[in-house]
Amino acid sequence: MIEMQNVYKKYPNGIIATNDLNIQIKQGEFVYVVGPSGAGKSTFIKMIYREEKATQGNIMVNGINLSKLKNSRIPYFRRQIGVVFQDFKLLPTLTVFENVAFAMEVIEEQPKQIKQRVMEVLNLVGLKHKARMLPTELSGGEQQRVSIARSIVNTPKVVIADEPTGNLDPETSWEIMNILEEINTRGTTVVMATHNREIVNTIRHRVIAIEGGRIVRDEQRGDYGYES
Ligand code: ADP
Repeated sequence: MIEMQNVYKKYPNGIIATNDLNIQIKQGEFVYVVGPSGAGKSTFIKMIYREEKATQGNIMVNGINLSKLKNSRIPYFRRQIGVVFQDFKLLPTLTVFENVAFAMEVIEEQPKQIKQRVMEVLNLVGLKHKARMLPTELSGGEQQRVSIARSIVNTPKVVIADEPTGNLDPETSWEIMNILEEINTRGTTVVMATHNREIVNTIRHRVIAIEGGRIVRDEQRGDYGYES
């Protein structure tokens, strides 16, 4: 469902961020993307949801060839993908409910359906009781849970997470992992860039290691691997 063939990315400043990436990720997999800072992990992640375009090579996601995707179709494509960021990216003036509902309103779902589905996903992340609060009234871990609820509200086949535990303490990070695990158990593919050695070495999944823009390791039930 996610496939890269000879994917090469050069930024306008001349930096080659990824070089000759070849991977296949199947529906329902959980994949960690690890590697040192500047290795190309974020670029890899951003190319999957077409935030960045590959300079050369092919990327297929959910049967769509991203190198051929017109700019005007990008918003439609993104609806099939949930994205979770390190810094949550919630809208500060909207309540928890509204932040999650927003993703459904833009695709013009019926208000009744929106209410039902938003409460369902808030329940899944344990925040139904905080639906009326503003993001600033929540802890970092709670904000990340809202952002996960937002990422799955339109039932995407894949959730992409770029260092989702990067701003969180260890205990909260485990809570976030449990939610991502639950989402994965229900059939959603999860691709997660992370620096969290303890998590990668404890909840074992496929590990793709990137260094200098190249995949240097791709192991089922791999470990974090780097000495720190
Ligand atoms: P990682 O997520 O592993 O830290 P990145 O994908 O962010 O790595 O970066 C890979 C390389 O591409 C780095 O050398 C970085 O400086 C460069 N880079 C990332 N984003 C941009 C950009 N928008 N413009 C120019 N260079 C970039």
